[in-house]
Order: sequence, then C-alpha cells, then structure tokens
Amino acid sequence: MPKLKLTVLGSGTSMGVPTLGCHCVVCTSNDPHDKRTRPSLLLEYEGRCVLIDTTPDFRFQALRAKLERLDAILYTHGHADHVLGLDDVRPFNAKQKSPVPIYASSETLATLRKQFSYIFDPAPADSFLPRVLVQEVNGPVDLFGVTFVPIRAFHGPMQVLGYRFGVSAYLTDFSAVPEASKDLLRGLDHFILDALRHRPHPMHSTVEQSLALVAELKPAHAWFTHICHDLGHAETNAKLPEGVQLAYDGLQFEVQA
Ligand SMILES: [Zn+2]
Ligand SMILES: [Zn+2]
Ligand SMILES: [Zn+2]
Repeated sequence: MPKLKLTVLGSGTSMGVPTLGCHCVVCTSNDPHDKRTRPSLLLEYEGRCVLIDTTPDFRFQALRAKLERLDAILYTHGHADHVLGLDDVRPFNAKQKSPVPIYASSETLATLRKQFSYIFDPAPADSFLPRVLVQEVNGPVDLFGVTFVPIRAFHGPMQVLGYRFGVSAYLTDFSAVPEASKDLLRGLDHFILDALRHRPHPMHSTVEQSLALVAELKPAHAWFTHICHDLGHAETNAKLPEGVQLAYDGLQFEVQA
C-alpha cells in the first residue's frame, strides 16, 4: 500500500485567522502557527494530488504548497469556506487538458450547482470556465489505489461527510457523530478533526467535545482543525494531552494508506 503525504493547507475557521478587523491577541500574534487559512487537506501519493475541499484561500494555498497538479477533489459539504475556491481549478484544467473529478454527496452537489451555476450552465461561454466531472458519493470511493470511506456526521441539522483513508481520517465541521460513523473511526493512526474553540457552538465541536471523542475513539495521534481566534497555538497546545495537538497551516506528515 502506498504512503500518503498529508498537508494541512488550511486550519482556520470560516473567517480565517487573523479575522478581518480583529485586534485580539491571537489575530495580532507573531507566531506563524496563528495564521490560519480556511480548512482544507491535500493528499499526495503515487504522483497524484487529491484535495479535500476548495476553500476561498485555495489559490494561495496551492501556491504556498507548490501544487503542480490536481487529480481529484472530495467535498465535505457545501458551506462557503469549503467550496468557494472551485473556480481556481482552471489552471489545472489547462495544464492537464482534462476536467477535474469532484466527489460530493447529493446535497453538496446541489449546493455547488447553485453556487457555481455558471460552471454547470450548458450554454457555450466565451470565458474560460472550470471543467469538472461530477461524481456523487454514495459509498467508498477508490482514487488511484486508495479507498476513501465517507464518514457521515451532523453539522447542526446539516449532514456532512468526513473521509477515512487507510488508518487516517479527516472530519471537520461536525457537532455530532452517529454511532455507526464512530465504528469507522476506530483504530486510527492519525485523526484530523474539528475543534473550533472552547465556547459551545451549535454546529461545531468544541475542544472539550473533541477531546471526549478522541478519548472514546483512541487514535494514536489527533490533530484539531477549523480553529477560530479564541485559541492561540502555543498556549492551547501546552494544555492539550499527549497525542493531541492543534493542526496548523503547512503541517505535513506521512501516513500509511
Ligand atoms: Zn467550515
Ligand atoms: Zn481575533
Ligand atoms: Zn460548515
């Protein structure tokens, strides 16, 4: 089985950190770990590049990660902070002379068709539009020899998908994880999961709730993401238990597929 190189392209919440107009201690911090773009994960293996979500920061993230190609996109859900960078697949369409396959639930695809109606409009256009190949996720997806198992969770009233690949998983934007999904999240080596802040939120897991989930599922390593400006990197990490840390933009590690 191939090794996957994971890169956390973005570790921030929907507004990013620093948050526009905010002068709090985290937003004005000089620690580069406190600069968080919107949440996304890159997986590289066998010469392929698979992306989870296209954030409004996708172009900047791709430049920063020196992304040379794009072979597939998996979507978690249709919120703006996870999809709005889709237009920036165009340079890869041009370079690879092909559409980019996108994988998403039927709900997320419906949202994408609305938000990006110009992409899906069959009428001929003079401008260069993104080219995508739509694939609905109804079960495990095989991408270039690695199986991505969708993990259903609730984000407030909304259904979202996380993904398990080998002995690692990515699950952001959730407030509740059904028991059947928990069974798919056991025996993990690395688990990257939502932990917005300490204060309760109707649609996101807090640090305390995510710590409880980690204690229940017992991954070897847990990385918190989708982090807001309430959490300073160094200060928060110092208080987290062993094996649990805040992710940060540019965090990279290899996992077994
Ligand atoms: Zn989000
Ligand atoms: Zn702030
Ligand atoms: Zn969301």
